Amino acid sequence: MSISQAIIAKTFKYGAHNYHPRDVVFSSANGVIVTDPEGKEYIDMLAAYSSVSLGHRHPEIIETAKAQLDKVTLSSRAFHNDMLADFFEKLCEITKMEKILPMNTGAEAVETALKTARRWGVDKKGVPDGMQEIIVCKRNFHGRTISIISFSSDAKARRGFAPFTPGYTAIDFGDAEALEAAITPNTVAFLVEPIQGEAGIIIPPAGYLKKVREICSRHNILMIADEVQTGFARTGKMFATWHDEVQPDMFIMGKALGGGIMPVSAIASTAEIMSVFEPGSHGSTFGGNPFACAIALKTMEIIQRDNLAQQSAEKGAYFMKKLEGLNNPDIKEVRGRGLFVGIEFHVNATPYVQALNHAGVLTKETHEYTMRFAPPLVITYEQLDKASEIIVATLNQKHTGAVL
Ligand SMILES: *Cc1c(COP(=O)(O)O)cnc(C)c1O
Repeated sequence: MSISQAIIAKTFKYGAHNYHPRDVVFSSANGVIVTDPEGKEYIDMLAAYSSVSLGHRHPEIIETAKAQLDKVTLSSRAFHNDMLADFFEKLCEITKMEKILPMNTGAEAVETALKTARRWGVDKKGVPDGMQEIIVCKRNFHGRTISIISFSSDAKARRGFAPFTPGYTAIDFGDAEALEAAITPNTVAFLVEPIQGEAGIIIPPAGYLKKVREICSRHNILMIADEVQTGFARTGKMFATWHDEVQPDMFIMGKALGGGIMPVSAIASTAEIMSVFEPGSHGSTFGGNPFACAIALKTMEIIQRDNLAQQSAEKGAYFMKKLEGLNNPDIKEVRGRGLFVGIEFHVNATPYVQALNHAGVLTKETHEYTMRFAPPLVITYEQLDKASEIIVATLNQKHTGAVL
């Protein structure tokens, strides 16, 4: 048994089997390159679902983290700390919003958004407490808490976890008329991913979010953009919502905000909307801790300074061009925005994912049919060339096999 095989066996022996990882073990990583215990190198074209947008262990992030470790790491919100204010200010600037509420994981930030919307509905819109309704999209992915899976359309994510949280209605993604039709006097918000990630990089029709913005404003309901995966330059704009040149009432952020080393999440909104919170109404022990804030602040500075949004747009277009070399009747469609690219298959994508991983390019299928690429935005053109060569050569061969 190889070292990797032994690690995988032990992981399954002692760990709950709530994931089925592909059979690659990370032992060290640097930038875009991951190394396994046997010393084999891989090009990371998944980047922890966009969390590692700056690449693994970005030197400035590691330096910032080390410096902060030598200063102060945790205050709780019982006291102030000297990193939180700068983090708030920077995140307001980047999102063009007025107020921030910090959490840790994406799901916590989504929960925070749902609470904000419900309370806003009561305090500002006059909906009776307990009657608030939130509209979501079918095939969404917003996280794993009980309330969030209450409006998931993924049977696997829901089975055996009832009773669910009421107050949600699901409509088709990309259909603005369906949104208008679903609104009732008790509707307080529409929660949407500007590009559906887990569903398979589903890009809505052009102008969809513009229409959504108009409908939400006209009916006085909050437009909430879940940019946990699409935010921070992933799709070629700082936020994917901005492809339609509209501003939501709230952004939900996570993943890349933590510089690839810490869970850092937040919601950003207007002062008016955020005013629904008073002391004691919501919180998190670790949310806004100085260690996370220092890292997130540096992350945002790097994304702005290095113009990663433009880099993502340019490199994404370059990558898509390379993928024109794909020629396999099993492939249905290649689609993407910036360095957020999906290849949809007519057949289960897993054998192709496995072949690609073994050939040295890391990716993962989302649900059954779509393979996702979301490499670090700092990937070089040489690395993109090499990855593309392997992808095209591997996917142009027929791969079948056991589906795990
Ligand atoms: C990953 C993700 C989440 C959940 O984030 P966690 O940190 O895993 O809780 C929420 N929304 C979207 C769009 C995501 O991609």
